[in-house]
Amino acid sequence: MGWIWCSGRERMSSSREETAVAMRNPQSGRGLSAIARRAILWAGFLLSTMWIGILLGAERPARRDEAVSVRRVPSGDGVNLIVENHAPCDVTVTMIVDGSNVRVTWIRPETETCPAGSEAEAVRIVPENPSRPCSWRFHFKWVKGNVHARHDENTLYLLPFEAGRSFRVSQGYNGTLTHFDQDQYAVDFAMREGTAVCAARSGVVVDLEESYKTGGPSKKYKSRVNFVSIAHDDGTIGEYHHFRQNGVLVEIGQRVEAGQRIALSGNTGYSTFPHLHFGVYSPLDGKRLRSHPVAFATRQGIVTEPAEGRVYTALPAAK
Ligand SMILES: [Zn+2]
Repeated sequence: MGWIWCSGRERMSSSREETAVAMRNPQSGRGLSAIARRAILWAGFLLSTMWIGILLGAERPARRDEAVSVRRVPSGDGVNLIVENHAPCDVTVTMIVDGSNVRVTWIRPETETCPAGSEAEAVRIVPENPSRPCSWRFHFKWVKGNVHARHDENTLYLLPFEAGRSFRVSQGYNGTLTHFDQDQYAVDFAMREGTAVCAARSGVVVDLEESYKTGGPSKKYKSRVNFVSIAHDDGTIGEYHHFRQNGVLVEIGQRVEAGQRIALSGNTGYSTFPHLHFGVYSPLDGKRLRSHPVAFATRQGIVTEPAEGRVYTALPAAK
C-alpha cells in the first residue's frame, strides 16, 4: 500500500489584517522656544483632528477575500466594523481588535457565525480621548460553517461511492499519516481515478474546486485540491477531496441527495495515491475545525469506525 497523504482544508479559511494608525510624537516640542512649542502643539492638534476625521469619515471600499470582508462605517464619534459574508453558506468569523487610546465595544461575540449572504455589526471603536492620538487595528479569520452546529449522531451515512461497489479503506479514523487533529475522523478510500463519488448524506453544495490537474506528497499541494463541500441540515459540512481535473458534477447552490453522483475521483492536492478523502466538519472558531465521527450503513452492516485495510460495499439510498 502506498503512502496516502490527504489535503487539509486550506481553502476553507482565510484571514485578513488591517491597521489604522495615527502618529504624533508628544515629545517633539522639548527644547524648543515657547512659540515653536505652541506651533507644534497646534500642528499636532490639527493632525490628530485630521486623523480622527480620517477615522470617522473614510469609508474605504470593502476588502474582499473570496467570501468574507470587513467594512468600516463611521458612526457618531467612532467607527463600526461590519462583517460581510458573500458566501453561499454560513461562515464563522473570529475578530481581534487592539489599539491605544481607543475604547472597543463588542456588538456580538468575538467568534460568531454570519449566515449566508448576510452582514452584521461586529465591533465599535471610539477614541478614548479625542484630543490625543490613537491607533487601532483589526485582524480576522474565517472558516465555512456554523459554530453552533451540532452533528446529528443518529444520522446514518452512505458510503461515498455507487451502490454495489466496494473499496478498501486506506486510512481510517485516527490514522497516523494525516487523520488527526482537524481530520481525526476522516476516512480515505483507495480508488482508481475517474471513479464516481457519491454524496454520503443529502445537503446543499456550498463550495467546490475542479481546476487543479496534479497532486503530490508535498505540502505545496495542500491548497491545490479539487473538492466538493456539502452543507447538511444540521449545519455540519461534508468534505470530499482529491477529484480529477474538471471532475465535479454538481454546482454551488445545488441540492443533492444521498447516493447522488457528485464527482469523479482523482489524485489532486496533497496526495500520493488516487483516493477519496471524506470527512464531516464544523467550526470550533474562525480558524479551527472540529472533526465529527460518522456511522456508515454498508452491506457489511453499520460501521461506526471504518477499519484501515477493510473493504466495504455501498448500499443504495433508502427509499
Ligand atoms: Zn484523508
